[in-house]
Amino acid sequence: MKVAIFGGTFDPIHNAHLRVAREAADRLSLDRVLLVPSANPPHKPSGTTTAYEDRFRMVELACAADARFEPSRLEEGQGKSYSIDTIERVKARLSPSDQLYFLIGADAFAEIGSWHRSAEVLGAVEFIVVSRPGYAYPIPPGARVRGLETLALVISSSEIRRKLDSGEPVEELPDPVLRYIRDHGLYQ
Ligand code: ATP
Ligand code: MG
Repeated sequence: MKVAIFGGTFDPIHNAHLRVAREAADRLSLDRVLLVPSANPPHKPSGTTTAYEDRFRMVELACAADARFEPSRLEEGQGKSYSIDTIERVKARLSPSDQLYFLIGADAFAEIGSWHRSAEVLGAVEFIVVSRPGYAYPIPPGARVRGLETLALVISSSEIRRKLDSGEPVEELPDPVLRYIRDHGLYQ
């Protein structure tokens, strides 16, 4: 089995996240992509992200679009969410013949040297690094990295939050996610 971990704040999950997950799954014949919202992203100021449960439920709604996508609660909880812990937990559930990948955008991968236990993270899995307009990244020595060029999508959760807050139309969200946002009065 081939599995990829795709972590993020997903505040909210958007069409580029889904596109990235779909293209990685198609091109590498992945059986499963675990979409793992981070409860407490170490790189974002605490208290500024939308409630974990709302972000998780939006991920869950979005995952219905593809049978290979699976929402994961592996980074639920009180403490900081570290990728090394997530990787170790997923590995513990896989069998030795399974292949595990870590799917990540170029902007996030460029920062990986600053992550908690970064050397171990880099040694633990093969990375699928997705190009993102405007971001270049060095490949750390010894890291296993596959670049994935996708159609450049200039979409970010930050820009979507800004549009929602100012009442501009938003076209970059899956319909069920936009409905969830409206029904729960998020991002206003
Ligand atoms: P924010 O603007 O709040 O940082 P974001 O759109 O970057 O939100 P994240 O939840 O931070 O979304 O990102 C989760 C993962 O998805 C990261 O690995 C990020 O690099 C990747 N990603 C997000 N948007 C894109 C995009 N448009 N193209 C390629 N990768 C992306
Ligand atoms: Mg981001």
